[in-house]
Amino acid sequence: MDRPVSKVREAKLELYRKKGNIHAKEVTGRFNTLRWGMVWLTQTIFYGLCWINWESAGSVRQAVLFDIAHEKLYLFGLVLWPQDALLLALVLIIAATALFLVTALAGRLFCGFACPQTVYTSIFTWIEARIEGDHLARLRLDAGPMSLRKLLIKTAKHSLWAIVAIWTAVTFVGYFTPIRELLPTVVALKTGPWEAFWLIFYAAFTYVQAGLAREAVCQHMCPYSRFQGVMFDPATSNVAYDRQRGEPRSNRRQAGQTGDCIDCGICVQVCPTGIDIRDGLQYQCINCGLCIDACDQVMEKIGAPLGLIRFASETALVAPEKHRPWYTRPRIGAYAALLLIFCGMGVWTLEHRSLLLVDVLRDRGALLRETAEGEIENAYTLKLMNLSEVPRDFIVRVAGMPGARIVGEERFTAEPGSIRPVSVTVAAPSDSSLSGIQPMLFSIQAADDRSIEVVEKSSFILP
Ligand code: SF4
Ligand code: SF4
Repeated sequence: MDRPVSKVREAKLELYRKKGNIHAKEVTGRFNTLRWGMVWLTQTIFYGLCWINWESAGSVRQAVLFDIAHEKLYLFGLVLWPQDALLLALVLIIAATALFLVTALAGRLFCGFACPQTVYTSIFTWIEARIEGDHLARLRLDAGPMSLRKLLIKTAKHSLWAIVAIWTAVTFVGYFTPIRELLPTVVALKTGPWEAFWLIFYAAFTYVQAGLAREAVCQHMCPYSRFQGVMFDPATSNVAYDRQRGEPRSNRRQAGQTGDCIDCGICVQVCPTGIDIRDGLQYQCINCGLCIDACDQVMEKIGAPLGLIRFASETALVAPEKHRPWYTRPRIGAYAALLLIFCGMGVWTLEHRSLLLVDVLRDRGALLRETAEGEIENAYTLKLMNLSEVPRDFIVRVAGMPGARIVGEERFTAEPGSIRPVSVTVAAPSDSSLSGIQPMLFSIQAADDRSIEVVEKSSFILP
């Protein structure tokens, strides 16, 4: 009697997994709660951050803004310039190393809980479930012929998806064009060509990726799923089915003769990528843990211990006595050390970044000039780049050349975020003991903050 029932169930699962869209059954549990917690956290930050203002240098601006036109990145009180590219590169390296570390520890945890694809697919399928009904109702609706009811339901769903996609695009572009300026132009359909392009592109991208493609992105398009295996080792924890405990599976449980898996198929029905975790580790698995929630409920009902499906490493499942704690694994140590080094480099670079950059150029017209008083003069152009958000006075001095002094103006004002070229003339006595090219230093210091100082090497030419 077991075989026909099992075959029917298997046929149903195959239908669910292979035909049309995957409509996963909703499930409650700790991993589902964690997943929605991450959706709320990431989306509160994403949709909310662009509305926060920041007061700086007597004016108010958007706290987080990528001002491409003026080549500035505002992060609350911090303003980064193209000269800070090293810092931005370090942020990317830190993010990549953290991802490697998390993957080595617990597989595709990022995919299951924080990847934008997962987050937006969760939001879009939540809307779908509210309008079309549970997974069975959605399967029936998809399989049924077109009717007025089906047309109305589908139109309502796609309209809501479009609204979410458009608002996501407005928010995204609002990090590049101040959102309070952007929104009225969107409402009036008067955005600039670049904003219009990115709004349409990003809205369409969100709609297609999260609404239409959803799990296909994780299965066929995401490059990370293909190379994540490089970071795995037998001690990496993943969502895994305890085969030793579960097999032989049977829907007629008999103590001592069958395993704990009652072959109910619920773990497959809740899987957003439509796989059967009992088939072993698969690249389509995004480690979302929903099958753990589902199976734990089944175990609770049949009075078996929880954790038939759980986060466990290959070693912990097959040979628990050989399982090593994470802190003894060389791979984890290497990733953690690299992460610490890169974070240290990032902090050091941030601490030591100068709000003043200076270029010293010699005057190409005349190498030197002899004055009526018998002094030798050299002319220079100094390019003062003020990277702060306030106008600043800078004082120029010379050192390292005996008797050298600035002739004329020594104090120059540079506007915030601007490059001010200034002409500086340096005079030195004609000294018979020195001749030719002599080394000299320019020191440029902010008048209001002595810690902002740049010393640049240059030279002074004597006859
Ligand atoms: S939910 Fe658990 S008991 Fe049911 S089929 Fe999956 S592994 Fe077996
Ligand atoms: S197998 Fe489990 S953990 Fe993997 S994607 Fe499916 S539900 Fe999520």
